[in-house]
Amino acid sequence: MAFLPSSSSQPQGSPPWARFGLALLLSGLAFSLQWLLAPWLAPSPSFFFLSSILLSAWLGGPGPGALATVLALVLTSVFFRTPGPPSHLLLSSALFTGVSALMILVASRVRRLLHEAHDARASAQVHGQTLSTTLRNIGDAVLTTGPDGLVRFINPVASYFTGWRESDAIGQPLSLVLRLVDPSSRQPLDSSRFASAEPRPVQLGHPALLLSKNGAELPIEYSSAPVSHPHGPSLGTVIVFRDISARFREDHERAQLLAREHDAHLEAESQRERLETLFMQAPVAICLTRGEDHVVELVNPLGQTLVGELLTPGRSVRESFSGLDPNLLHLLDEVYRKGTPFTGHEVPLRADFSGSGHPEVKYFDLTWQPWRGHAGEILGTMGLCAEVTEQVLARREVEALASDLQKALQIRDDFLSVASHELKTPLTSLQLQLQLLWRSLPETGPDGQPHPARKRIKATRRPAERLHQLVNNLLDVSRIRAGRLALEHETVDFAALLQDVVTRAEADAAGAGCRLLLHAEAPVIGRWDRLRLEQVVTNLLSNAIKYGANHPVEMTVVQDGDLARLTVRDHGIGIAPENQARIFQRFERAVSERHYGGFGLGLWIVKQIVESLGGDIRVESQPGQGATFSVALPLEPPPSGRSDSASVSHAAN
Ligand code: ADP
Repeated sequence: MAFLPSSSSQPQGSPPWARFGLALLLSGLAFSLQWLLAPWLAPSPSFFFLSSILLSAWLGGPGPGALATVLALVLTSVFFRTPGPPSHLLLSSALFTGVSALMILVASRVRRLLHEAHDARASAQVHGQTLSTTLRNIGDAVLTTGPDGLVRFINPVASYFTGWRESDAIGQPLSLVLRLVDPSSRQPLDSSRFASAEPRPVQLGHPALLLSKNGAELPIEYSSAPVSHPHGPSLGTVIVFRDISARFREDHERAQLLAREHDAHLEAESQRERLETLFMQAPVAICLTRGEDHVVELVNPLGQTLVGELLTPGRSVRESFSGLDPNLLHLLDEVYRKGTPFTGHEVPLRADFSGSGHPEVKYFDLTWQPWRGHAGEILGTMGLCAEVTEQVLARREVEALASDLQKALQIRDDFLSVASHELKTPLTSLQLQLQLLWRSLPETGPDGQPHPARKRIKATRRPAERLHQLVNNLLDVSRIRAGRLALEHETVDFAALLQDVVTRAEADAAGAGCRLLLHAEAPVIGRWDRLRLEQVVTNLLSNAIKYGANHPVEMTVVQDGDLARLTVRDHGIGIAPENQARIFQRFERAVSERHYGGFGLGLWIVKQIVESLGGDIRVESQPGQGATFSVALPLEPPPSGRSDSASVSHAAN
């Protein structure tokens, strides 16, 4: 726009003297040219003046234009007046003025329009540059396409994220430069959606994963909008996106946190349910009290059942149990004040539990713990309580029964002791008499046959002997229980002793149909109480004959290091495994009274003697296959408490 005097849209921007001076100058120039060229331009004297007016109006505005018009009118009328009537002059002057005014108006108008267009273009240029600079420097990534869907603009951020240099990206299809996938389904997103020519509302805040040229993935959020003339064709699309990996991470972490929180909530809920179930179904009564007045806060159903309506939430323990032992209340106060738990067994509580108006006593196992808050402060007490009234009463009954039983056993033992003592003296004299009688009688009668009275005496001596043994056993029981069984140790040949016992038992064995087989080749010398050792062997052998009738009985004694080992083996009825321990106890038997007489004392006495000699006894047997009793005895008496004249300590049973 070189013909414009300045970039200003207002000619008034130049000083007035310049503009009016220019009008004078141009008028002068027009006058000079008119003057010089008058001979050739006579018919159109206004040509140069009109030009000066136009130029003055164009360059200086309406004022200078008007000045040039006035000057042109004056100069023309003075110097270039054509002959004619004054009306002709007036008309031509009016016409000139009108044409000049029109020209001034048009020039001013065109000039203004041109200035406006120029200003608009300049401003558009500035805007364009500002926009371009802004888009290049903006923190978000910006990418624009033309209506053909090819990339027209890509700013450095978009270039960085997509991995495409600006020079490479321009002119490429958008789908190539901006590769997006759906973050959840990982399906590619169609980039042609951005290139749609249809006017659509601006899409904002869509999450997507951007696949850069080098294959990296970046979570982004994008917005796109079609660009078009207000009522014209589409110009393309602008796409703005930004990196949301930090937010993505935060969202992910938040989601994880929420999931964890949710899990923790579920866990807490299930724990609460478990605790509630435990509280409601606990097999003990639970009661929570708050504050120093022990106001009942919670009682579980069993608690309600145990004490009836006495424990009601909102009432203090003092109010609930008016007759409560003051000591117990004091203990409860202590638990609250000092935080030390209290445990009481079989604590009696006297109250009207049933609400019938009659107080009764019940017994409880009771634990009071301090109930603490989160900071460890004591809020109240927690009581766990189980009613043990039935157990206490049952135990008392059992104790009374046991005491009665003990008394009865004592009476029995006393009776047996007295009875056996009382029996022993006449029995001994009876045996003595029988022996004297036996000796005083001749071997044969007058008829030369064995004396008939001898046979009867013999028949009487055997039961007397058994009775004697029984009385001895009873006396031993009394002695052992009283700890009065004295042991007299002396040097004994166990093999010879066994031989003696076997010889004495031969008649009985023969009567029972038993053959006695003895294996005691070598002497077994040790220090034992001879009589008690005989008693051990006799008891075991008489049992073998009794329970193994009509079968052989084998006996062995050998030395095994510093032990003597005795075995007595029969082939009789045997002993069931479940009875094998029991038969060594006092009065315990594993056979019926009807088939086998006896008191169940023999084996108990044997065991007491064997143990007092420092040895042990065991049995191996199967029902119907006989029994083998094995005794192991040290050759020397045990060092402590079992020396010569040792006594058997009081046996438990
Ligand atoms: P008693 O023979 O007088 O019953 P014991 O104390 O000697 O008393 O024996 C206890 C029980 O052991 C017997 O009642 C019997 O059941 C069982 N018993 C003992 N010895 C034998 C054996 N040799 N064979 C089978 N059972 C036996």
